[in-house]
Amino acid sequence: MSVPSVITIDGPAGAGKSTLGELLAQQLGYLFFDTGVMYRALAWAVLRNAIDPEDDEGVAALARNLDIQVLPRGDATDGRPYTVLVDGVDVTWEVRHPDVERIVSIAARHPAARAIMRERQRAIGCQGRVVMVGRDIGSIVMPDAPLKIYLDASIDERARRRTYEIQRRGGSVDLERIRNDIIRRDNLDRHVSMPAPDACVIFSDGLSPEQVVALVLACIKDGVDDSQDTSAYERAKNPDSA
Ligand code: C5P
Repeated sequence: MSVPSVITIDGPAGAGKSTLGELLAQQLGYLFFDTGVMYRALAWAVLRNAIDPEDDEGVAALARNLDIQVLPRGDATDGRPYTVLVDGVDVTWEVRHPDVERIVSIAARHPAARAIMRERQRAIGCQGRVVMVGRDIGSIVMPDAPLKIYLDASIDERARRRTYEIQRRGGSVDLERIRNDIIRRDNLDRHVSMPAPDACVIFSDGLSPEQVVALVLACIKDGVDDSQDTSAYERAKNPDSA
């Protein structure tokens, strides 16, 4: 397979999608685009405007009028991967705040708001040479993408990674709280997070980011087998059923 012009990476919170996406984009000279940040920006604006995150019309109206920009980090030296602006306000770090995390999956549930976000994401994807990360990118936003990855990992592994990521940024965290939050978001995101039928599924427990990148590059080199045998993935996920 020649290098696909669009690579989608979906999967649950903390599976390592952003790390994989950034590494791949770097290696291929592609744009890295994290769609989760758009929903976080929306959730930030929901809080800022004191809108009820359950109010589907209120959230959709906000989404329609919101100017969300995700820009290269420029000269910033605070460790940010990119800069996020909402109506011109720099919210790069605020969208990671626990208050945003608490409501993001609720604000992201409304079909009308999702339709607006998906259209904007599709416009970015259609420009090509992009690695797009999210929950529904391969299944709904860019179903024709030539390479779709679904990246998963156990809850314990995901909680460990999230904890490490926050500590690396200088924050203090409680592993159990992070674990519970991941379980809560898994439940709320279940309806939007799904592997595309032709996704290449990778279960990343015990693998370093570099090993996962190597697996994806091997997928590109070998071509993607649509009838991929996912039984090893199922066994790794549910060791008791083996
Ligand atoms: O990936 P991240 O944890 O930053 O995403 C934050 C939230 O945004 C997810 O928990 C999910 O509710 C929502 N999301 C979504 N669809 C996407 C990406 C993220 O619904 N494509």
